Amino acid sequence: MKPFSYARPTTAADVLKLLSPTARPKAGGNDLLDLAKRGVSTPATLVDLSRISVQEGGPRFDGVTVAEGGQLEIGARVTLAQIAASADVLRIFPALADAAAAAATPQIRNVATLGGNLLQRPRCAYFRDPFFDCLKRGGTSCPARDGVHDEMAIFGNAKCCATHPSNLATALLAAPQAGLATITVEIGAKGGLVWRTVELSDGFFVRPEDDPLIEAAIAPGELLWAAFVPAAPVSAYVEINQKQSYDWASVACAVVLDVEGDKIADARIALGAVAPVPLLSEPAAAALRGKGLRDTAAWDAAAAAATQGATPLARNGHKVRQLRAVVRRAIEAAVARSK
Ligand SMILES: Cc1cc2nc3c(=O)[nH]c(=O)nc-3n(C[C@H](O)[C@H](O)[C@H](O)COP(=O)(O)OP(=O)(O)OC[C@H]3O[C@@H](n4cnc5c(N)ncnc54)[C@H](O)[C@@H]3O)c2cc1C
Repeated sequence: MKPFSYARPTTAADVLKLLSPTARPKAGGNDLLDLAKRGVSTPATLVDLSRISVQEGGPRFDGVTVAEGGQLEIGARVTLAQIAASADVLRIFPALADAAAAAATPQIRNVATLGGNLLQRPRCAYFRDPFFDCLKRGGTSCPARDGVHDEMAIFGNAKCCATHPSNLATALLAAPQAGLATITVEIGAKGGLVWRTVELSDGFFVRPEDDPLIEAAIAPGELLWAAFVPAAPVSAYVEINQKQSYDWASVACAVVLDVEGDKIADARIALGAVAPVPLLSEPAAAALRGKGLRDTAAWDAAAAAATQGATPLARNGHKVRQLRAVVRRAIEAAVARSK
C-alpha cells in the first residue's frame, strides 16, 4: 500500500479546500481503503469526514430529519445501521431501511455511511485487480465478458459488465423525486460554499457508455452532503444473494406503490445489481398501474416485464430468472405494507 497523509479538518469549508483528484474524502473507509490496499487507487491524502461539525445554512450532514411536508432528509454521514434502525425511515420510506439492513454485515453497517455506500466502486474482480486491463481503470476492454461473469450485468453490458453495488442507490432510485444535496467551494477570491441538488433519476448515475471511469456525477472537489426522500410508505426492497451475510446482492428490487383505495394508481420499480447503474423498469411499473392491489396476475406480469430487454452473458442467464423472482417478492412485500 502506498503511504498517504491523513487530514482531519473540522469544518466543511476546510474539507472542501483540501479535496482534489488525489486527496479523497474518507467516510467509513471500507471501500476507499480496500481499493488503496489493492493498488487500484493511490490517494496521496485521505480527508477524514468524521470531525466536521454541523454546517450552518444547509441540510444536516448527520442524522435523519423529517422536514415540513413529511420529506426525509438523511445526512451523508449517517450509517447504514442508523438508517436500518430509524423509526422515521421505517415509517416514511421503509424500502430504504430494508436496503440498509440487507447490506454487508453488522460491523460494516455500523461504520459504512450513506455517502460512501452511494459512491462505492463496483465489486467486479477484474476492476479490483490491477493485473487486468479493465476499461474502468483506463484499459481498452472488459475482461469479464470472456471471463468469470456469473454475477455480472444482464442489462447495459455491451461495454462494461460490472454491476452497481449499492443497495441504497436502488432503493433511493425507486422513490419519486429523491434527490441529493452536494456542496463545493466556489472558485475565486471569495471561495464561498456552493450548494447543488441533483435528482437521482436525472443523471447522477453515469453509464460506462458515457464515462467508463466513474459511476456518479460528482466532482473531485465536491462532497455529497445529504439525501432527500419524499414519503413513500408503501415500499419495499428485496434482494437475492448467494449467501445471507457478507455479500452483495445477486439481484435486487425496490418497489414504491402509490395506492388509491384498492388500486395501484402508480408504481416505480428499481432494479439493482443487474446493470452498471441502477435501473428504473418502466415495463414493470406499467404492468401494475391501474391494477388491483392484490391482483397477483398483475404482480406476475410486472415481474416478467422487468426482464424485458435483458442481454445475459454466456454464464449469467440465471440472473434473469432471479430477477423475475425478486421483483415478484418485492411487489408482494410492498403490498403487505399498505394499510
Ligand atoms: C464484505 C462486504 C460486504 C458488503 N456488502 C454490501 C451490500 O450487500 N450492499 C451494499 O450496498 N454495500 C455493501 N458493502 C459496501 C459497504 O456498504 C461500502 O463499502 C460502504 O457503504 C462504503 O461506505 P464508507 O462510508 O465506508 O465509504 P468510504 O469507503 O469511506 O468511501 C467510499 C467512496 O465514497 C467517497 N465518499 C464517501 N463519503 C463521501 C461524501 N460525503 N462525499 C463525497 N465522497 C464521499 C470516498 O471518497 C470513496 O471514494 C459491503 C462491503 C463489504 C466490505
